[in-house]
Amino acid sequence: MVQYYFLGRGAISNLQDLLNNKKAGAKDAFVVMVIDHYFENKNILDLSYLSAEDLIIYAETDEEPKTSYVDKLVDLARSKGRLPVAVVGIGGGSAMDIAKAISVLLTNEGPSENYQGWDLVKNPAIYKIGVPTIAGTGAEFTRTAVLTGPTKKLGINSDQSVFDQIILDANLLTTVPKEQFLYTAMDCYVHNAESLLGRINDSMTIALAEKSTKMIEEIFLGEMDLEKLLVASGMGGLAVANSAVGICHPLSYGLSIELGLRHGYAICIAFNQLEEYYPQVKTFKEILKKYEIVLPKIITDDITDEQLDRMAEATLKNENPLSNAFGPDWKNIFSKAKVIELLKKM
Ligand code: NAD
Ligand code: ZN
Repeated sequence: MVQYYFLGRGAISNLQDLLNNKKAGAKDAFVVMVIDHYFENKNILDLSYLSAEDLIIYAETDEEPKTSYVDKLVDLARSKGRLPVAVVGIGGGSAMDIAKAISVLLTNEGPSENYQGWDLVKNPAIYKIGVPTIAGTGAEFTRTAVLTGPTKKLGINSDQSVFDQIILDANLLTTVPKEQFLYTAMDCYVHNAESLLGRINDSMTIALAEKSTKMIEEIFLGEMDLEKLLVASGMGGLAVANSAVGICHPLSYGLSIELGLRHGYAICIAFNQLEEYYPQVKTFKEILKKYEIVLPKIITDDITDEQLDRMAEATLKNENPLSNAFGPDWKNIFSKAKVIELLKKM
């Protein structure tokens, strides 16, 4: 769990003090700022207190983070010849995961793909701060940094991937376009549903997921409240990180890998067809209707049987989530034919 947080509109103003304290007046101390490229030249973030020593990286997030991209940024930070006193990630799951990965890689030799997996990180990471500017993934709270490598999309799952401090400031969420806003928020709704339906959970994750679900429903079917959304997103992240995803995420990975769909969008496309497994899909559809979002049909006649087959294979690789959803006998329950039947509806 993250140990320290600031929560409230304007909370980002605490960043300056946090960084100055870390620098403690040392002349050559510097920080690495990983900021979503949306904020470049926008005049939304006050960075006037940074010095010429600090390294500001406007991260490309049009694609989800790749190991090769992270490795390039780590080399860039290393070219300073000394370690930074802090790494800050400001953005969505993508920018925050890049920041987490950099903080780990700076003190651990070798390429980032070596650390994709569970508890492979040996040395303590650099102090890091996360600041979400879009809510839903819960990445600011979790112990993983999700990266796409040459052979797999898999997180650096480690205690060293947890932010030391996070800043939850609803003011930063106001510029997200409606569709992206909803897709990322629904990632949280789906994390909760999968966590609740799974077998790997406990009273803590159930409590977090139930309350987070209720909050999301109040926010999207009642009154929008961005601060409440940040909290719901964090609770959903904590629930799922301490239990497991289920049927929707494996299907979404197939869509993302084969067709390049962004995470939240792929989640929505998949969840929309999973009413037979998750009662929450009914409410999800009401939310889409209220926000006037019509999900397009992705699996069209142009998609070949080979592509469908690869998507099904990518889905069925996710043994842990599927076993969480269906039990140890999942292979006899969730067949490839069933996966293809579901994909064809999407
Ligand atoms: P994202 O970070 O990929 O950003 C989505 C888009 O929103 C980008 O185009 C970005 O520029 C834009 N954006 C972000 N903030 C904005 C703002 N305030 N105003 C305008 N535009 C803004 O989106 P995401 O859905 O938060 O993250 C998805 C990534 O998170 C995926 O790579 C996924 O694998 C990962 N993820 C990580 C975890 C974790 O625990 N580490 C959990 C779930 C998902
Ligand atoms: Zn997700």
